[in-house]
Amino acid sequence: MKSYIAEFDTKEKPKDYYNKLLENLKEKNRELNAFNNFNDSLHGGFPFSVKDNICVKGVESTASSKILKTYKPPFNATVVERLQKNNFGFLGKTNMDEFGFGSFGINCEAPAHNPFNSDYVAGGSSSGAAIATAILKYHVAVAESTGGSISSPAAFCGVVGFTPTYGVVSRNGLIDYANSLDKIGFMARSAIDVRKVLNMSTGRDTKDTTSLDVRLTDEPKIQFSVINQLMNGLDGKIRSAFDKFLEKLKGMDYKVNYVDLKEIEAAIPAYYVISAAEASTNLARYTGFKYGFKVNDFSKKYNDFFTEARKQFGAEAKRRIILGTFVRSASVKNRYYIRALKVRAMLNEKMRRILRESFIVSPTMPITTPKIADIEKLSPVQNYALDILTIPPNLCGLPHISFPYDYIGGMPIGAQVIGEHFNDYAVISFVENWERKFKYKFRYNIGAL
Ligand code: GLN
Repeated sequence: MKSYIAEFDTKEKPKDYYNKLLENLKEKNRELNAFNNFNDSLHGGFPFSVKDNICVKGVESTASSKILKTYKPPFNATVVERLQKNNFGFLGKTNMDEFGFGSFGINCEAPAHNPFNSDYVAGGSSSGAAIATAILKYHVAVAESTGGSISSPAAFCGVVGFTPTYGVVSRNGLIDYANSLDKIGFMARSAIDVRKVLNMSTGRDTKDTTSLDVRLTDEPKIQFSVINQLMNGLDGKIRSAFDKFLEKLKGMDYKVNYVDLKEIEAAIPAYYVISAAEASTNLARYTGFKYGFKVNDFSKKYNDFFTEARKQFGAEAKRRIILGTFVRSASVKNRYYIRALKVRAMLNEKMRRILRESFIVSPTMPITTPKIADIEKLSPVQNYALDILTIPPNLCGLPHISFPYDYIGGMPIGAQVIGEHFNDYAVISFVENWERKFKYKFRYNIGAL
């Protein structure tokens, strides 16, 4: 267990520390596409990066979408303000799947590359946040998850990724994907650093009516539940590494028990119906008038004008608009949207029952890190199916953490622990214990940073 934040405070820094950092990072970024832009005026504080769908005043914030090119928000997201007040210095905006639509960091203009091997994906949608955390020694990432966008890249890049209970971190300044699901969270190289940034960022914010003023708890559990249905679709190598991990848990005096939760199989369709429905209304505001890309030619006919603007969206964004508009249309909404809400409520109830007695644990992703070329071949439905382990806690607004626990073929793999609502510190504490017990050391380092 090591706090890079604490170490940084006490470390003597060479005069041109920040210039060197930016220089090295820009060089590395040519290969990995982790950052969309850099803050060249960074001269102090603990460096933090911000996912490109979170607003930083005066800095281009595009959510990696062409339609938001040139958009510079006139204000800071609350989370950015809070970190800056705690002597953190803004480093740059990180790459992502356009608006958060994706799990592999490739649904954008410049696909992200895994820092361990650039033929492989970095995960997504917070791809750049995870790469930055992997390659920078002194740094934390502000990221965002709607349905697994923190866990997935954290696992593929071998870093700790934490997603809080819904409402615990203000969403003010977030470019919305699906408001009832979006959560701002963090990535770091150790669990203790996640705890520190969470601590600085929580609390009621009058600018976000869904933000909450609750005391987060740290109630440990001695039992871990494994959901049988989630184990069925695992890649063989992931399964055997995970079985070894469960043995290690038992060695730490935790109990492991297997439970059935048949309904979890409905999590993916429910999630994609709800998230697309919300996304399709959120994306309606990008018309070529107000934010980012401007059409400017007012002699165009009505349809031509909007077509010109909205053809800036990438293929996945267009797919979500069409799907979302369909599922909430009057003639079918009971069949899709309303039914998906019922699935969500039922799953929430069942997961909470399991979580009263235990944490829920699983691998973070069902497959080992895939090659970029292989993911490009998948159909959308095959792609969505790979979210099966990360969607359930997101659909239910539950706090969860992904952390690296082993390597397969030189690439890191992650496990994910889910806790009860507002018991956020407990899942972080568990990972701290695990890091302490196994003397976990982060393996990747670009050296100079
Ligand atoms: N892969 C999921 C999606 O495409 C989750 C993305 C996210 O959490 N932003 O919707």
